[in-house]
Order: sequence, then structure tokens, then C-alpha cells
Amino acid sequence: MSDGRRSIGNLPAVGEPRRLVRVSPFKAWLAAAGRFVLPPRCIVCEGPGSGSRELCDGCRRSLVTNVVSCSRCALPLPATTPLCGQCQTKPPPWHDVWVPFVYAWPLDALESRFKFSGSLAAGRVLATCWLSSGVPPVMPGLLVPVPLHVSRLRQRGYNQAQELARSLARHLGLPLAHDVLGRARATGAQTELDAAARATNVRAAFAVKRVPVQKHVAIVDDVMTTGATLAECARVLLAAGVARVDVWALARTPSPGQRGVSKVAGPLPSQGRRG
Ligand SMILES: [Zn+2]
Ligand SMILES: [Zn+2]
Repeated sequence: MSDGRRSIGNLPAVGEPRRLVRVSPFKAWLAAAGRFVLPPRCIVCEGPGSGSRELCDGCRRSLVTNVVSCSRCALPLPATTPLCGQCQTKPPPWHDVWVPFVYAWPLDALESRFKFSGSLAAGRVLATCWLSSGVPPVMPGLLVPVPLHVSRLRQRGYNQAQELARSLARHLGLPLAHDVLGRARATGAQTELDAAARATNVRAAFAVKRVPVQKHVAIVDDVMTTGATLAECARVLLAAGVARVDVWALARTPSPGQRGVSKVAGPLPSQGRRG
């Protein structure tokens, strides 16, 4: 993970967090020099990258875009319908949603590498894909990444939601604040939980540490599964007096019945020369 913090992480943020990843200047220089000198390779298929991107055009095209989806929660739907069943009975607390991709191959493998294997190269690729996917429906006044509990942050070294939010903020010219939301308590992993258990797991897990002056905030996360985490973040911000909360995530997990349409994730090639 010594190669990439600078390429995603040089946006001036509100209250820059303490760096938990120590990158030696020599290693950072070596990685940057390697990216400059060597032609980029696709980190999915290891073929030639496209332009300066570490992703080839073929792999970029294989990302599944979230075109037909619920207008409130971005759940991928089999046919154009304004709202999914869940949102018809119990709409989420946020106002608008922007989730450009479906969580499917090869995005899921890139995300796994970014989140669990410390690959900031995968994070760079994901951020580039998000930036080139279009523009948000409405521009907020502030971006707020979903926070990690400090114990998880120490373990991982960085907050993947914040890394993505940094790129978005820089690209869209928006301020970013990491110190608005905090984890009031650590939560267990959401991965194996169903929707109801996820909602219970994150209840009272977040707190507003500082009420932002901006009245329109977008919360940024990497992957939206049931939306329980984003809903809890939205609830506390609205309760603190924020007038409008939108949610942005890179990818939305399809409902169990929809997952068959996505290719099953396989392993990516072993870590490339630029990680
Ligand atoms: Zn490729
Ligand atoms: Zn919905």
C-alpha cells in the first residue's frame, strides 16, 4: 500500500485526519516513478491499460452500470419501475441517491482488493470509474464519508469511503469533512447479516461530532448493501439539523434474486508490479 496514498489523497479536506499509514519517501518516490516510466497495466486482466489508467477498455466496459434501479434506494431492478417494494412501504430517510454501478464482477474483486488487501491501486481505479460514470443528480454543499471505527481504521490503515470521497470532492470542487460523523461504537461485520440484523447492528452506531454549516450534505460510501448504514448516518444528520441529506455510493448490491445476472467474482491476477 505504499504506492498510492498520494494519488487519491491530496485533496485539502476539512480537518485533515492523522495519517495512519506511514509511507517512506523513497518507496513513494519509487512507486510514482514506476507509474511515470512504465506503461500502465490493467490490474484486472494484466493487459495494457487505457491511457494513463490501470484498467483496460474491455474491463472498464465489463463493469455493470446501475441503469435500471429504484429511484429512492438505487436497488437494481429487473424492469423500469419507479420504486422497489421496500421503498413503497418504508422509504429511506435520505432525499436523493447516486449509485452508478452494480456490485458485480469485476468491481467486487477490485473492491475486495481495495478494502481487505490494502491495494490503493484498486482504489485509484475504482475512483476513476466513479468519476467517469457521470455527474450527481444534484450538487450538495458538502461531502461526508461514512466513518470507520478507530479500531478498524487502525487495522486497515485508511477509510475506503474517505479515499473515494476525496477523489469526488477534488473532481467536483466540493468541500469534504471527515469530522462531521463519528462512530459512537464499534459494530460487528455486516457481511453475514440479513437486512433486519444489519439495521439493528448499526442502530446508534453513529453520532454527529460537528454540525456542518452546509444545509445540504451527501454521505459517501463505497458499497451500499441494504442501505442500513447510510440510513443511520442520514438519520443522525437530519436530527442534528441538516436540511437535506443525499447518499452516494460507488456500487449497489443486487437483491439475492438478481445476483444470478452478475458474473461470479473470481480472483484477480496476483498483485501487479505497481500494486
Ligand atoms: Zn483488463
Ligand atoms: Zn428502493
